[in-house]
Amino acid sequence: MGTYNIAVIKGDGIGPEVTGAAMDVLTKVGERFSHKFNFTESICGGAAYDKYGEPLPQESLDVCLKSDSVLLGAVGGPQYDSLPYEKRPERALLGVRKAMGLYANLRPARLFPALEKVCPLKNPGKIDLLVVRELIGGIYFGEKGMRRGKYGAEGYDVMAYGELEVERISRVAFELAQKRRHKVSSIDKANVLKTSGLWRKCVHDVHSDYPDVELEDVLVDNAAMQLVRDPAQFDVIVTGNLFGDILSDLSAMCVGSIGILPSASINETTRGLYEPIHGSAPTIAGKNIANPLATILSAAMMLRYAFDLSEEADAVENAVEKTLAQGARTADLKEEGLPVLSTTAMTEQVIKNI
Ligand code: NAD
Repeated sequence: MGTYNIAVIKGDGIGPEVTGAAMDVLTKVGERFSHKFNFTESICGGAAYDKYGEPLPQESLDVCLKSDSVLLGAVGGPQYDSLPYEKRPERALLGVRKAMGLYANLRPARLFPALEKVCPLKNPGKIDLLVVRELIGGIYFGEKGMRRGKYGAEGYDVMAYGELEVERISRVAFELAQKRRHKVSSIDKANVLKTSGLWRKCVHDVHSDYPDVELEDVLVDNAAMQLVRDPAQFDVIVTGNLFGDILSDLSAMCVGSIGILPSASINETTRGLYEPIHGSAPTIAGKNIANPLATILSAAMMLRYAFDLSEEADAVENAVEKTLAQGARTADLKEEGLPVLSTTAMTEQVIKNI
C-alpha cells in the first residue's frame, strides 16, 4: 500500500472534464490495489490568467514541485490568443517542464485491435511504438533572432545538441527498450547536419552499455516514409526536439483519434508530467462529449513510470482495451452501429472494467 501526492492541472476547455475522469479512474485503482492518491489542484494556464493575471503563478508551480507527479488536462483557448507571449496559457506548460527539468517526452502509439477501422492506414499491422523525444534542447531552445542577410530580412534559429543532452535521452530510450521489444531506432539527419553527426556518435557510445538492445540509425526523411509504410517495424524511436515533434504527431495519426493518445514528460527522477497529447478542444468543452481515454491512459503511464506500479498500470490499460472491445465509443471514435457515449459514461465503463 502506498500514498501518492498528485498535482492536478485541470487547465482550460475540456481539461477539467478529462482530468476529472482520470482522477476517478485513479481513485478506483486505489480502492482495488489499496493505495491512496491525494489530489491537489494547481491552477495554471488560462484559468490562472483569469484568476491571477498570469499563466503560471509561483504558488501553482510550487504545488507541482512539491508533488510526487503532475497530471495535466490541457491549456489554452481562443480568448487568450491575442495575449502577449509571456501571458499566454502555453507559457505555463513550458514553465512547468523547464522548472521540473523534464527533458524526455514519451509518446506511445498503440493501435487497439478494436479501433482498426479508425486507422487511416490500409494494412497497419500491430502498431505498438514509443517515441522518446528530447524536450528541452535543440533548435527550439537555441539562439534565435532576425538579421539582415543576402536576401533581405533573415530569421535564424540555431540547432545545437551537447554530448550530455544526447547521452541522457539515449539512456532513457535504451532503458525503456529493455522493458519492451529491445529495439531502438535513432532518427537523425547525419548526412547533412553536424548536430546529427554528434547525435549519432553519442547514441552509439551509450549503446555499448546496452548490448541486449538492437540499435538502428534512420534518416528522418526515411523515418517519415517508414512510419506510413510499416509502422509496426518500430519499437522505441529516439530523436531530437524538432524531428520528435513532427514524427510523434505522425505516429499518433497512424493509430486513429487524438482523443486516445497519452504522453509523459520525465527526467531521471520519478517526478514527471503526464498529459494527453490533445489540446483544450474549446468547441466541445463543457458538453460532456470529450474522449477521456487519452488522459486515463496518461494516468496509467504515471502509475507505471512515476510510481513503479506496473500491475496497476496494466489494469487500467487492459480496462481501456476491454471497454473499446465492448463497443464503447465517444463521438470522436464514432463507428456505424455503435452507440456514442458521453465522457462520463465512457469513464464509468472503464472503471467497471478495472
Ligand atoms: P485540440 O487538440 O484541442 O483539438 C483538435 C481537434 O481534436 C478538435 O477538433 C477537437 O475537438 C478534437 N479533440 C481534441 N481532444 C479531444 C478529445 N479528448 N475528445 C474528442 N475530440 C477531441 O487542438 P487545437 O484545436 O489546435 O487547439 C485548441 C487549444 O488547445 C489551443 O488554444 C491550443 O493552443 C491548445 N493546445 C494545448 C495543448 C496542451 O495543453 N498540451 C496542446 C495542443 C493545443
